[in-house]
Amino acid sequence: MVEVSLPDGAIHEIATGVSAGEVIKDAFGRGAVAAIINGEACDLSTPIEESCTLDQIHSESDEGLHVLRHSCAHLLAQAVTQLHPNAKPTIGPPIEHGFYYDFEMGPLSEEDLRKIEKKMRYIVKQNLQISREEHDSESLRQMFADNQFKIEIMDDKLDDGAGSSVYRQGEFVDLCRGPHVPSTSYLHHFKLTSTSTAFWRADSNREHLVRIYGMCYATKEDLQARETLLREAALRDHRKLGKDLQLFHIDDMVGQGLVLWTPRGSVVRQELQNFIGEHLRRQGYSQVFTPHIGKLDLYRTSGHFPYYQDSQYPPLVERDLMAKLADDGCSCSELSNLMEKGEIDGYLLKPMNCPHHIRIYSSQPHSYRDLPLRFAEFGTVYRWEQSGEISGMTRVRGFTQDDAHLFVTEDQIAEEVLGCIELVQVIFGVLGMDDYRVRVGLRGDDSSKYVGQSEKWDKAEDACRSAAASLGVPFTEEEGEAAFYGPKIDFVVRDVLGREWQLGTVQVDYNLPERFDLEYAGADGEKHRPVMIHRAPFGSMERFCGVLIEHFAGKFPTWLSPTQIHILTISEKHIDYANEVSEELKMLGVRVEVDDSDNTIGKKIRTHRKMQPSYMLVLGDEEATSRTVSIRNRAGEQVQGVPLDNFMANLLAEISTRSSEQKLVSKLD
Ligand SMILES: [Zn+2]
Ligand SMILES: [Zn+2]
Repeated sequence: MVEVSLPDGAIHEIATGVSAGEVIKDAFGRGAVAAIINGEACDLSTPIEESCTLDQIHSESDEGLHVLRHSCAHLLAQAVTQLHPNAKPTIGPPIEHGFYYDFEMGPLSEEDLRKIEKKMRYIVKQNLQISREEHDSESLRQMFADNQFKIEIMDDKLDDGAGSSVYRQGEFVDLCRGPHVPSTSYLHHFKLTSTSTAFWRADSNREHLVRIYGMCYATKEDLQARETLLREAALRDHRKLGKDLQLFHIDDMVGQGLVLWTPRGSVVRQELQNFIGEHLRRQGYSQVFTPHIGKLDLYRTSGHFPYYQDSQYPPLVERDLMAKLADDGCSCSELSNLMEKGEIDGYLLKPMNCPHHIRIYSSQPHSYRDLPLRFAEFGTVYRWEQSGEISGMTRVRGFTQDDAHLFVTEDQIAEEVLGCIELVQVIFGVLGMDDYRVRVGLRGDDSSKYVGQSEKWDKAEDACRSAAASLGVPFTEEEGEAAFYGPKIDFVVRDVLGREWQLGTVQVDYNLPERFDLEYAGADGEKHRPVMIHRAPFGSMERFCGVLIEHFAGKFPTWLSPTQIHILTISEKHIDYANEVSEELKMLGVRVEVDDSDNTIGKKIRTHRKMQPSYMLVLGDEEATSRTVSIRNRAGEQVQGVPLDNFMANLLAEISTRSSEQKLVSKLD
């Protein structure tokens, strides 16, 4: 007999060799997928040979989901190798929401994916036992002789001559540490979702692989909830809505990752910029404008060139110089060398706005009385993202930051960081983005990685910490996440679907003032170095609008709506009145469209609803004679006979307060 102690303190006496799974079933009932013996995760089938502590890994715990998802990956590999005998499994880890497995094989169609999933379900029905075996190095190498990937894993991961465990289910065997569920019948709530390409070892010089993704949960409800969420996310996808609602366009002829803002999308951006601009003026910012390019020397001084040139568009060279170099027979690589060494100059599409703003600062002498100086610009910058990474408005090659640079004294850091934070709070509040969190990036252990004195850092870190705390939202402090030049605050918004979006940041900087030798005259008459704060709390207008499109599912609040009012006439008799109403609204600055076509009113409503105006006005005999309007909101609720003046006053109130609710119909009821 041996003694097994459970987490609640109970001790079970059992015969030697009874499996962990049997004891767990007695003690906890059903639901376990693996066991923990003396703190080590293992299979439920593990026999208990001596006294130990024992706990279960329940399917619904994080560890349990890990086991289920990992077991699903094996199931996937078994199904793939049955259907495609030449496919070579490489690695297949569990991931958030599910699992993937990478295979060396030909491309797969949707139909192939469906067949693989069907095969997986067939294997589940077969209820194959999943068993662990220990093998020595020689036998492992024989087992996986025809799979060079597994051999490479053994070469890398196993000590010379060391053996390892494998897991077997039916004729499928995989090199693996486990643990796994006891049999394939434990796997129910999974679904294959997509395929993509991958490289062995994530190295583009190595073999091309096919990656198959799946999701897996412990319960049917969880799987269904995830499916619903993905469907809803697809409906809100800003790339789809951006096209349907004509908000932006990306054109191959213009270039990948370069967003073209269409008239309707430009309205949203302009309204946002106006809104942010109002608060910047309130906070004492000064507007500046700077060009889209700057000399390489500027970026050599800032440090952006040549160190970050992989993430920049290549430099531009002046025409005369180019001609001279061509005459000299200069090759491209020589040209790039000369530029790197600083022997010839050129221009860079700006990767950052800071150097330009810094030169505005240094164009005048400053005293402590001038500080803080706050320069704001919706400044467009260009970065070279790999083409595989580009996506819609959220990963682009040119974008406009809601940028600003603050030049402050040491003592002003805390208050200015607080000001940046207050701006975020106000703007998120108006947009109804109440669910966000903040990350404060602090220094790590290795102080040699950071510029600036330690006491200054302490103070700046304190300032960031207390500014973050003042928001009253969750915040985390992350050591080692500061930039080398100063601590920072990042904003992460959670949207209605629970997805997180990293937006912008506030960063304290001790480095650039040093590199550009910035100074101000202190009260003591001495020269002092200012500190810079970079802040772009919403990141970029592209990313922020992309997130907003998904956040509102394209149903923007009235103040942001590309078109606020669509006027629909019932017949041609009402065209004059419609035009009159439209003119009055335009005089008030309302964005309005009139549909006076001969289509039926039902058809007009259906067509215009697709563009999501805030309200539709339906105008017929009754409205025209009594100078009223009939208002219809997005939910299809309608109110009739509203006096025109009354409607306009309430509409203007809704717009000017930047209300996020559509109040007009209910309010006037
Ligand atoms: Zn495995
Ligand atoms: Zn900056």
